[in-house]
Amino acid sequence: MKELAEYKEVIHSCSKCGLCQAECPIYQITGNDCSVSRGQFIMLNGLIKGDLKMTKNLNKYLDMCLKCGACSKFCPSGIDIVDVIASAKAEYFKTSFWEKLVSFIQRNFVFGFIVKLISMFHLKRKSKTFAKKVIYFGGCGSKIKGNDSVIDILNACNIEVITPDFDCCGIPFYVRGDKNSFEKYKQDFINKLSQYDNYDIVTTCASCEKTIKSYLPEGYNVKNIYQYIRENDFEFELKKEKKVTFHKPCNIENYDDILWILNKTKNLNYVEMRDFDKCCGLNGVTKFSHYKVFTQLFKEKVRNIELSGSKIVLTSCLGCEVALMFYSLIRYRVYDLLEFLNKNSVKKSRKV
Ligand code: SF4
Ligand code: SF4
Repeated sequence: MKELAEYKEVIHSCSKCGLCQAECPIYQITGNDCSVSRGQFIMLNGLIKGDLKMTKNLNKYLDMCLKCGACSKFCPSGIDIVDVIASAKAEYFKTSFWEKLVSFIQRNFVFGFIVKLISMFHLKRKSKTFAKKVIYFGGCGSKIKGNDSVIDILNACNIEVITPDFDCCGIPFYVRGDKNSFEKYKQDFINKLSQYDNYDIVTTCASCEKTIKSYLPEGYNVKNIYQYIRENDFEFELKKEKKVTFHKPCNIENYDDILWILNKTKNLNYVEMRDFDKCCGLNGVTKFSHYKVFTQLFKEKVRNIELSGSKIVLTSCLGCEVALMFYSLIRYRVYDLLEFLNKNSVKKSRKV
């Protein structure tokens, strides 16, 4: 993780064109320039120059950013705001007792205790042995939900799944600006990986995929499982026809692969929901200070799900799954795409 000052040139490359405003879900609600990249870069420039000080108020605007990256995709200067905000958060982290306390609880209690405790209730599934092998990185999601779907589907397609006891990829600490914790998780991943042969690594989480790619040792290759499924030409057929819609997690780079699966699965009637790629707002669930902004975001998502006419929402990120369920437990059901395919398919096979 770079120091904020190292982003000086990147921040200067913002032309203030304002195109990010049209893409930012938070700006669309607040209309406040400080809540979108353009305004954030003006503030951070002032901070680097010493005209501004890192205060609670400035951090409030940093926290408003969902780290969805929607603005970056259309930014003519190609600025990746998520990395810049993470470095700015690291500046605040140095001075804030509260941020340190939250990070401590997250590391030791949430991941170190609760997630580990939940994972003890999963029976350790063993993969069947095949000539073709992959290493699976499921992150915290697989500790909470288990590896069954991944093992079932890949084994049905004659692929062995190696499941090292990986910990978190470190993303929750990266975005909070807790450099030390992030480095600890990163090093732990690299050390554990070095004990295995150089097979493809597949992940089911787009955020884990992006994070691991940022520090993966040379010679290894990480793929999202949906890319892997498409490359290996898997085939799915549902037991009976089901109408579904799909929420696209922000970090997923290979939505085309998911679309390929949705369109190719037999008996799956896929309906695209309006703004299917708009952030679910998970990052805001714990930001009680911005309650009104995030409530608006949640309401829009629920309305778009209802407009799709589907009672089943599929997604491919545990965080999005939790957020979508949090909005409405009764109006629709939310499933992980892979779990849905595993549970409802009468046929899982591979052509190549
Ligand atoms: S789109 Fe990019 S260059 Fe334009 S104002 Fe936003 S951050 Fe700056
Ligand atoms: S990352 Fe998302 S929430 Fe943050 S400024 Fe960009 S579009 Fe807005």
